[in-house]
Amino acid sequence: MDRDPVNGGSRGGNGGFGGDGGEFQSPALERLVRSLSRLPGLGRKSATRVALHLLTGGGAAAHADELTTALSEARSQVRTCSRCGAITEPDPCRICTSDRRDRSQLCVVASPVDVLPIEKAGFFRGRYFVLGGLLSPLDGVRAQDLPFDRLLDRLADGPVTEMIIALDASVEGETTALYIQRLLSGNPLQLSRLATGIPVGGALAYTDEVTLQRAFQFRRSF
Ligand SMILES: [Zn+2]
Repeated sequence: MDRDPVNGGSRGGNGGFGGDGGEFQSPALERLVRSLSRLPGLGRKSATRVALHLLTGGGAAAHADELTTALSEARSQVRTCSRCGAITEPDPCRICTSDRRDRSQLCVVASPVDVLPIEKAGFFRGRYFVLGGLLSPLDGVRAQDLPFDRLLDRLADGPVTEMIIALDASVEGETTALYIQRLLSGNPLQLSRLATGIPVGGALAYTDEVTLQRAFQFRRSF
């Protein structure tokens, strides 16, 4: 689109962003703004900025077409791996099917996004299991809402001898880790969790109390 934005509804005169509760005269633009504003982290003001950029900014038509195509392709091709829950296109994913990955190690993470930094670092050669969330009684996330049954099936299914629980160092992460520990009590599996403590480059004087307490609790001998 190479004409001016149809932004007559910005009653506050704030540069046409419609961010003061006013509506555009174009119902199509209104729909786009409303749809964008439902995205996480985008309020109406940011959604309006994005919409106007896509319709009227430099190279707008090409960018909007690219976005439309990317969204359409992602919707049809992206899925979660039926074995591990990672985001993938082939199912099972390449990590699950690779012969070069260690089948004996299984790393449990909360979100598919958590796989990325571990893969980027490149030191872990095992496989993953994505929970898709953390136990949080306050938010109504209970054990039956997370795929613990699939996790047990996975263990029964493969030659896993070590499970590494790599969850957030939060109350929810702690609750979930303890639940998994209880779930697997009696299982001969070697169960471990990520160490917590003072980060590399961190100054002791500025370390928060909980981290410091953990660092003492999980101190190691030289
Ligand atoms: Zn997988």
